[in-house]
Amino acid sequence: MRSKMLRLVLSLTTLSVISLSANASVQESVPGEYVVKFKAHPAAMQLMSSKIQLGQSLHAFIKNRISSANIVVVQRASVETAESAISSLQENELVEYAEPNYIYHISKTPAQAGYINLWGLHNVGQTDKDGKVGVAGVDIDVEKAWDITTGSKQVLVAVIDTGIDYTHPDLVQNVWTNPGETGADSQGRDKSNNGVDDDQNGYVDDVHGFNFVNAAAPTNNPMDDHGHGSHCSGTIGGFGQNGTGIVGVNWNVKIVASKFLDANGGGTLEGAIMAIDYATKVGAKVMSNSWGGGGFSQALQDAVARATQSGAVFVAAAGNDGTNNDVSPAYPASFPVENIISVAAIDNQGNLASFSNMGARTVHLGAPGVNVYSSVKGGGYDTWSGTSMATPHVSGVAALLLAKEPNLTNAQVKQRLISTTRALPSLSGQTVSGGLINAYNALTNNTLESQTH
Ligand code: CA
Repeated sequence: MRSKMLRLVLSLTTLSVISLSANASVQESVPGEYVVKFKAHPAAMQLMSSKIQLGQSLHAFIKNRISSANIVVVQRASVETAESAISSLQENELVEYAEPNYIYHISKTPAQAGYINLWGLHNVGQTDKDGKVGVAGVDIDVEKAWDITTGSKQVLVAVIDTGIDYTHPDLVQNVWTNPGETGADSQGRDKSNNGVDDDQNGYVDDVHGFNFVNAAAPTNNPMDDHGHGSHCSGTIGGFGQNGTGIVGVNWNVKIVASKFLDANGGGTLEGAIMAIDYATKVGAKVMSNSWGGGGFSQALQDAVARATQSGAVFVAAAGNDGTNNDVSPAYPASFPVENIISVAAIDNQGNLASFSNMGARTVHLGAPGVNVYSSVKGGGYDTWSGTSMATPHVSGVAALLLAKEPNLTNAQVKQRLISTTRALPSLSGQTVSGGLINAYNALTNNTLESQTH
């Protein structure tokens, strides 16, 4: 059987990256001011006792003396470079070190360096990477939801994609580790690499997930060699308390990597089926699918149906063709399986993204999908667009809802998410709900802001 190639639902229009940190190595400091520490030496002590002598010795105006710590703060001509000034100060044999007078800021909550980039989570009217000024409040309203829950390690989400960089500092805490494949076996060997299917789930040494890129010879290593799966994972569950990078919709969650898309973002139907079946086998309650392409496949639809029967919500990208899925179905999003949630993309002003598919009968809701900042492979971060990026926002809210109400069925989760959207004119008549996913409304079952209430 000829395999169909499936493609990532990622818009490549934004890969020309603006360097966010071109001057990251140059910390903000007071111009011309330096903190100088003297050695604990009698000559230094004597020098510090005379402000005039000290100033002459350092070719500087003495602004402040912290005698108990042998430190002075000096001002030098601000026309010289900091490097030059520090070099000059350190030439004094009595000086232990000299530093710029750094400026610090208060830390805000959540203290994520990239949080201002996460307009999808909290839109205060910041500009996006293309300079487009956001409309405050066009977001998924997750800050209020976090007052109710920040997620749960009991909720298992499968990212069916290019894998996950499971060593990424923002992902490592929330990547699933199979308890049945860790620790020592009866012979004292490490279960994670003993070549034995210790938990008898049909997959040998599946510690963080499985890799079906070579479907004929799958491996136990779902490391992301593209970046796309890591980007989606960061939106679902970037670790929210490490002070770096990003925060996801869930601060706590378990994400299992089911990889079938390769380093170029392509994968086979064969691999897709195996990847969905794996996610079903390990019991994922949410499956995030930011990919599509190919024509109708019964085999793929059957795999999605198996996932649905196991109780999973199957979230799928509507597609990036700018077309109407009611007229031209896109798969897997358009399969007539009851628990698929098909997701369109909006920008930071609430417009339907120009690339996004829509469909009043077959695309359920919208989510942030233009200039979304998240984690990528190799421990990095990047800003990408696509219904690929919108999808994990919905997967993330589904997981957050299950953290609060773990006994909901997949049908109830889907119904809740659709009925509690916030209405957006751009999505009215273009989607089933007519609205943008809203985490707070979902958790509080508030249907008053939705057109479907
Ligand atoms: Ca196993």
